[in-house]
Amino acid sequence: MTTVHILGFPRIGAGRELKTAVESYWKGESPRAELVQTGRELRARHWRQQRDVGLDFVTAGDFSFYDQVLDMSATLGAVPPRFEWPGGDVDLDTYFRMARGTAPSGKATHACEMTKWFDTNYHYIVPEFQPDQGFCLASHRLFDEVAEAKALGYRVKPALVGPLTYLWLGKAKGGDFDRLDLLDRLLPVYREILARLGAMGVAWVQVDEPALVLDLPEKWRAAYTRTYEALRDTPVKLLIVTYFESLGANIAIACRLPVAGLHIDLARGASQLDAVLAELPTNKILSLGVIDGRNIWRVDLDHALAILRRAADVLGERLWLAPSCSLLHVPVDLEREDKLDAELKYWLAFATQKMNELSVLKAALENGANSVLEEMEAVRAARRTRLSSVRIRNPRVRQRAASLAAKDEHRTSPFAQRHAAQQQRLKLPPYPTTTIGSFPQTADIRAPRRDFKAGRLSEAQYKEKMCAEIALAVSKQEQIGLDVLVHGEAERNDMVEYFGEQLEGFAFTRHGWVQSYGSRYVKPPIVYGDVSRPGPMTVEWAVYAQSLTRKPMKGMLTGPVTILQWSFVRDDQPRADTALQIALAIRDEVRDLEAAGIKIIQIDEPALREGLPLRAADRPVYLAWAVRAFRIAASGVRDDTQTHTHMCYAEFNDIIEAVAAMDADVITIETSRSDMELLDAFVNFKYPNEIGPGVYDIHSPRVPDTDEMVRLMRKARRVLPPEQLWVNPDCGLKTRGWPEVEAALANMVAAARVLRTAPPQAEN
Ligand code: GLN
Ligand code: ZN
Repeated sequence: MTTVHILGFPRIGAGRELKTAVESYWKGESPRAELVQTGRELRARHWRQQRDVGLDFVTAGDFSFYDQVLDMSATLGAVPPRFEWPGGDVDLDTYFRMARGTAPSGKATHACEMTKWFDTNYHYIVPEFQPDQGFCLASHRLFDEVAEAKALGYRVKPALVGPLTYLWLGKAKGGDFDRLDLLDRLLPVYREILARLGAMGVAWVQVDEPALVLDLPEKWRAAYTRTYEALRDTPVKLLIVTYFESLGANIAIACRLPVAGLHIDLARGASQLDAVLAELPTNKILSLGVIDGRNIWRVDLDHALAILRRAADVLGERLWLAPSCSLLHVPVDLEREDKLDAELKYWLAFATQKMNELSVLKAALENGANSVLEEMEAVRAARRTRLSSVRIRNPRVRQRAASLAAKDEHRTSPFAQRHAAQQQRLKLPPYPTTTIGSFPQTADIRAPRRDFKAGRLSEAQYKEKMCAEIALAVSKQEQIGLDVLVHGEAERNDMVEYFGEQLEGFAFTRHGWVQSYGSRYVKPPIVYGDVSRPGPMTVEWAVYAQSLTRKPMKGMLTGPVTILQWSFVRDDQPRADTALQIALAIRDEVRDLEAAGIKIIQIDEPALREGLPLRAADRPVYLAWAVRAFRIAASGVRDDTQTHTHMCYAEFNDIIEAVAAMDADVITIETSRSDMELLDAFVNFKYPNEIGPGVYDIHSPRVPDTDEMVRLMRKARRVLPPEQLWVNPDCGLKTRGWPEVEAALANMVAAARVLRTAPPQAEN
């Protein structure tokens, strides 16, 4: 008997029920009990699916009202002092305040930092540790959910973030100390959790330790053995779960931990199987992640089966079978996609279908491939048609990509010369103010979009509505006194989907949502074939917006790396090749904007960093092709056209040279949440071009005051020449409401005025 399980199921609900429930609770429109009930229903539904498809366990602990790392912080009582948690059980509003700064009850304050979960587009809430950090069991959530599953009659395997990955993902605050030193305080709480789970009759606990796939410092590697020694006499069996990469140098450590089992990712780390089979002691189970939990293509059953058979020869009953990682990263159910064409649909598998694939594989393994012949044949046929389909190849695109020259990657002149030409044309004041692109996506925007999609509005009517929204955004910006305006992106539901919908080679789902952070979900396009641009995508809107103002209007595009990173991409060619094809399409759009009179063009690359391979050794190759793709997209313009890029993360130090090599004239970047931590990068590296370090955290509804923003900018001008600095928010404002946006931007413009009148010399 092969055991089959999953590491986690998407928590959002096939109809995005979680989003509706959470947001209506936040707005005070529904009581807490209703939210709690929605959570219960979603879990019950997902467990039933797992049982119905024949999984040997249902997984608990993967559900969350916001984020599983934040849940772990609550469970461990790691609540930063500013939230004034009185002890006891961490209640839901304290939990939400940590995530968002505000909640229906409790004092508003800075939210905790948020950052990307490994190399995914999922964001977790960063644990914050004080020098005197203590831990205690402070949430019953996990036990309640286990009890819930048991009451429904399921055999349940709880999942939690392991102690070392938890510490690794956190940050030391309020003092210079090593967070690894907190381990001895942390372990007793983990022991207590495991003991309780054991007492509830739980046999197996899934302990996620994806940090094991990273290049860990020696001290952390050594801590693994010590940690699991300390947890070995708890009354449950531990399955150590790794994903997103192979274990690399940590194979021996992972295999020898004093635990009952190990899970490895064979989608990203196929090559590690032999070494793991050789190293793993014969009393341990090995869970193989043969189904890709990060992409949406059907598994190649023959290939997977061959691997599993080889492993089964060694492992026998000790073989477990799972997706590579939690299914959190793929949409819930393909069945809901009634608008995808049948051929393409047949190539795909979402979370629900992936669970089916598991059960087919299990049957094939146990009873022979003939027992599931029909499925096997169908999958083979789908693969054959996909790889030979004319839909996926465009000779013209391939030819163009192959004949690119070095000059296509370079602007005509170096930055200094461009800067002079741009300044002459744009005549911007010192500390120019701008925003990142989007303005509030109000009901007035969403309703016409919905009506247009549903055919209740004609294209002309829809355009008219969007133009009215653009005009509104422009007039508000003029009133606020910003220097460089944006059109507000009213016509875009999503910064990747908007472009993908107008490009060849992309397909779209109707319900393929994936959680990005909290209640923010994205619907990644599917890149299934060669990419090309049939015609201009943004020019009309930009030209209209520019016609409303004498201030410069930024043209707004999404960069090739971000489009790649936030899509489900084809697995039949290297990612670099797909990125280059997208770059060519964006390059054409950039030139069309310039020709239409747009003087500033921003190409957003918020996802550049998350594409960074997890292992240092793989990074230079990635950065080289990613930077090249951006440069191909951005370099086709005249010296006096100003290019901007935007990125949303503060961890900048390790890629600063690549970011500089992108050679955008201006970069705007997230940094206010981390209190300008990004500036550390400039102590050792002279950033050559202009830069706008975000002064206003747009992820939180809190309105920052002028002093606060002035303070952040003063910090910035201690390490950067004032003439290089712009003043702007951290990111786009689409998720905010107008009143808070207007108040915050007015404060921001006031802050720029303060900076212009108070020279830096006066401060030091
Ligand atoms: N221009 C986009 C916006 O303002 C950028 C979004 C992002 O960086 N994620 O919404
Ligand atoms: Zn951003």
